[in-house]
Amino acid sequence: MPNDIWNVSSDSIDNPWDGIDDNGISIAQEIASIIARHGRQGYLRKKTEQKCRCLSPITGEADVDCPTCSSTGYVYLDHRIRLFRHVVTRAMSGAHRKDMSPFGVLAVDEAVVYVQHDNLFPSIHDWVIEVITDEKGDIKPPPLIERIYDIAEIYDLREDYGQVAYYALRCRKIEIGK
Ligand SMILES: [Zn+2]
Repeated sequence: MPNDIWNVSSDSIDNPWDGIDDNGISIAQEIASIIARHGRQGYLRKKTEQKCRCLSPITGEADVDCPTCSSTGYVYLDHRIRLFRHVVTRAMSGAHRKDMSPFGVLAVDEAVVYVQHDNLFPSIHDWVIEVITDEKGDIKPPPLIERIYDIAEIYDLREDYGQVAYYALRCRKIEIGK
């Protein structure tokens, strides 16, 4: 039952895959079918090492209205993904709540987002971007941002021979200051 997977993943803080009884059932297949049935397209926004032109040489700060870097100060690359977001219904880690949010950013929500590996290598503080999608979960052009999640922790689900199949990304929803 898919519900069992979510209950187990919510219970374990250190490893969402702990306690899953793998009686010949491939968890990767379960997650694949959940993402296929209930998931939607979106973007993984990966920061690059390339500094944005808007960075002030005097203050070292980025322009809060910069359309190129979304005020992060670094140029980013968007990768299309298919994702399934699991809303966390109870506190999973109090530690995050003590973090100071960057100026203009307010943490209001936590979620776990499941994505296929697909040669993505998500990093902490990359963003998962949900956009308006159609009834099949495909992006409706032009892409309109619905929600942005900042990746706080990354877990990988490994299959045979240690191959990464899926990621579980613990995220915090962020609001961009206007
Ligand atoms: Zn910029």
